[in-house]
Amino acid sequence: MNTPAPYTWPHIDQQLRQAVDRQLDRSLSDRDATGVIGEFEKEFARFVGSRHAIAYSSGTSALHAMCVAAGLGEGDEIIAPAYTFFATATPFAYEGVKVVFADADGWGNLDPDDLPGLLTDRTRAVIVTHMWGNPCDMTAIAQFCRDNDLLLLEDCSHAHFASWGGQRVGTFGAMAVFSTNQKAITTGEGGVLVTDHDQFRELALLHGHYNKRSFKEISPTAPYYQYALTGMGLKSRMTTLNAAVGLDQLGKADDIEERRRGILDRFADALDGNPVVSPATVDPQHGANGLYVLGLHFHQQAATVTAAEFTDRLTRLGTEFDMPGSTAVIANEPLFHRRSRTTPWTTVPTVDPATYGGAQQFIDSFIKAPLFGYPGDEQAVDHHITTLAAVSKDVAR
Ligand SMILES: *Cc1c(COP(=O)(O)O)cnc(C)c1O
Repeated sequence: MNTPAPYTWPHIDQQLRQAVDRQLDRSLSDRDATGVIGEFEKEFARFVGSRHAIAYSSGTSALHAMCVAAGLGEGDEIIAPAYTFFATATPFAYEGVKVVFADADGWGNLDPDDLPGLLTDRTRAVIVTHMWGNPCDMTAIAQFCRDNDLLLLEDCSHAHFASWGGQRVGTFGAMAVFSTNQKAITTGEGGVLVTDHDQFRELALLHGHYNKRSFKEISPTAPYYQYALTGMGLKSRMTTLNAAVGLDQLGKADDIEERRRGILDRFADALDGNPVVSPATVDPQHGANGLYVLGLHFHQQAATVTAAEFTDRLTRLGTEFDMPGSTAVIANEPLFHRRSRTTPWTTVPTVDPATYGGAQQFIDSFIKAPLFGYPGDEQAVDHHITTLAAVSKDVAR
């Protein structure tokens, strides 16, 4: 059996090469949004259905801007998922916010039932991650935030094409961030903050877009206009070449969505009746998957091997299935337990693993693969589907 070429993203076609080439002649660095940065932001806002979008050098820096724009700092608490990529929460820890962790539900998403027990009189916000593209229960989480006067923040880095109850993710709260690293819509490196609120937009601009752009776009009557020159001390703009890549990808968004949904459907059909693995994809009655990866639930009781052994066999046959490594339970990371920036070396309290039992259960049975989605990927998709079927048959009880 010949194995297909390894998955790379985005698909580099002639159109993308030309877009980057044109940008080389146009500008390598923009200090404001009059060029490709502004064009990319406008298209991104339209893609999500939010009023404003601001581009950053990474998703992590966009999350940092979100923390600063929300006005969170020392003395404040935020409730975050115990199971997520760590950058959902690390910028808050950097700013001295105490991060309080909620366990995961059966989808690996923040469990709304955990929220009431984590609330204190210092809680100011809840941040969610729509893990592996499946939307969180935004009905329950938004209601909890309204009832307790908390800001709702979203990390949509896995969920560019996701919706919950017909509403696009990224539009449920005060602000949301989409990493545009190797995600469904990519700029290479980058991240975008979206919001419907004018004031959050201006405050987010102050973090990372100082001087020319802040002078131009922040209301001169706002009390924080005095910071326009220096911003809040940091600069984290997206480069023009990254924005040109992003603009090209947004122009192909319908195509990417159609191809990836088609592949997800093919896997769903192929897995029908497979007792060992089933698609970890939200029921269309509740929402739409974000098309970041193909997620699978492994059913231990139906198999003679563990999930890790199963995945190992699949990879040895030339597929790209894996069990996520750096996306894990983050609650025990030392960064979240230091007392302050000047006394960083505190010992981490031992946390009973059962505290995040929901997250661990999800992690132990979650397998993913790339969702591909480019012209010519048929061979790779077929190979993954047939290998999955063969190995499942082999290990089924
Ligand atoms: C990728 C990712 C980030 C970080 O984004 P970068 O662009 O890599 O800085 C944050 N949160 C989640 C859930 C991610 O997947």
